[in-house]
Amino acid sequence: MSICEGIIQVLEDQAVSQQYQRVKTIWLEIGPLAMVETDALRFCFEAVTRHTLAEGARLEIIELPGQALCLQCAEPVSITTRFDACSECGSYQLQVTQGEELRIKELEVE
Ligand SMILES: [Zn+2]
Repeated sequence: MSICEGIIQVLEDQAVSQQYQRVKTIWLEIGPLAMVETDALRFCFEAVTRHTLAEGARLEIIELPGQALCLQCAEPVSITTRFDACSECGSYQLQVTQGEELRIKELEVE
């Protein structure tokens, strides 16, 4: 629930600075390491947007792949969790480069 409330907070702040009245579509980028259930997110989004400037807005979720750089063999590897090993050398010394995102990429407003 708090994630959705955070999103609404951002939308309301931006409505003041960017002078819009209503949010029609929200594109949200989510990485696998953000640990967000997209179904749960959609559900709570509907609930918290009721009676706000984003009521009835369309939520488009863009799922980003997880990526890391192996500190042992310097190969870029795909990951789905923070605890994955390098698919090349088996090392657990990975530096996450993408996948922790939970951010608003774009808004359609009026
Ligand atoms: Zn490696």
